[in-house]
Amino acid sequence: MADKITMNADGTLNVSANPIIPFIEGDGTGVDIWPAAKLVLDAAAAKGGKVIEWREVLAGEKAFNETGDWLPQATIEVFQEYLIGIKGPLTTPVGEGFRSLNVALRQILDLYVCLRPVRWFEGVPSPVKHPEKVDMVIFRENTEDIYAGLEVQAFTPEAAKLRELLHDAFGWNIREDSGIGVKPVSETGSKRLVRAALDYAVKHHRSSVTLVHKGNIMKFTEGAFRNWGYELTRDEFADVAVGWDDCGGKPGDKVLVKDAIADITLQQVLTRPDEFDVIATMNLNGDYLSDALAAQVGGIGIAPGGNINYVTGHGIFEATHGTAPKYAGQDKVNPGSVLLSGVMMFEHLGWVDEANDIVRAMEATIADKIVTYDFARLMDGATEVKTSEFAAAIVDRL
Ligand code: NAP
Repeated sequence: MADKITMNADGTLNVSANPIIPFIEGDGTGVDIWPAAKLVLDAAAAKGGKVIEWREVLAGEKAFNETGDWLPQATIEVFQEYLIGIKGPLTTPVGEGFRSLNVALRQILDLYVCLRPVRWFEGVPSPVKHPEKVDMVIFRENTEDIYAGLEVQAFTPEAAKLRELLHDAFGWNIREDSGIGVKPVSETGSKRLVRAALDYAVKHHRSSVTLVHKGNIMKFTEGAFRNWGYELTRDEFADVAVGWDDCGGKPGDKVLVKDAIADITLQQVLTRPDEFDVIATMNLNGDYLSDALAAQVGGIGIAPGGNINYVTGHGIFEATHGTAPKYAGQDKVNPGSVLLSGVMMFEHLGWVDEANDIVRAMEATIADKIVTYDFARLMDGATEVKTSEFAAAIVDRL
């Protein structure tokens, strides 16, 4: 009998050796990458004496074709009940009332952290000289900011009404032909995000947390995020972390909390990546930063991600790339993104040995130059293999 993952009173997860884990296969190349990832995850779990009971739930095109619904209520209820799940990429339905299925899932389950670890795997082709210097973990706020979907379209009665309201209340003159977006950044949202980043930094013995913001311009949203981050450090983490101004940049054995303007950050993660460790930032900055960093380590096809609510225990781990429809069903693309998302999920469940085993086996496979097309085209002397063959080669090296 398989077991439900539950949350203990102290906020940790209660995970048996035989847990039930819901999955969404994903659209497009989901049919290729999910079975490949599952093969490796199951083999690593078995090596550690564990068996996952996978439970398929539907979303995206597959859900629409079978139920007429892009994101069935049943799927949401299963994720609510079983806490932890994993998903492949989903097609964004155009004109169906959803901004994006991924964003909808994050908002419905209040998955307030988008966690994106970025590190280089030996042998992976990279556009920079020292990809080995990149080892960062990005905590991107997932529920607020300009991503909250609070927008009105130009030339609509809604836009006219909002312009009038803002003019009457604040004297703001917004050009008549403007669309308008609202950017909420709350103390609650900012502090719970920075809290998660600091908890992670302390638990994983990381040296610093950098608050990335554009507060020099957007003072009451991005600037407030920065200030709340420092305030939280003083109020809740004084024994284990310290802000730059409170220690003159000399934190001793505590985690150093510092901040950096977003535009400079995008330069410095390229020119001095070793100065960044854990990064905590808002939704839009985090979106740009995580993809830019993934590219630096050659990882656009293998960058993993997780969306987590550390308070309720809910988490959905996911491939960060899209459905790549032109390759769908060809057993061609790299399964690394969804597989490494599974590795993140294992770490989150406390299955650290199994997670490390997969990383080692994947590194060994790449070191043997057995890779999918995307890496093969950038490597000399590589053996190009199919999605399923790449997975089998990893299993051979577990
Ligand atoms: P995409 O599916 O990510 O594909 C863009 C390019 O990235 C591909 O043409 C391919 O590059 C490369 N790529 C993607 N997945 C790969 C993999 N597994 N292995 C190796 N290379 C890979 O982006 P898109 O074409 O802009 O979007 C297609 C659909 O996906 C849209 O409906 C979009 O809304 C959706 N989407 C979903 C998610 C999600 O569910 N998380 C995220 C982004 C987009 P080459 O052509 O150079 O080989």
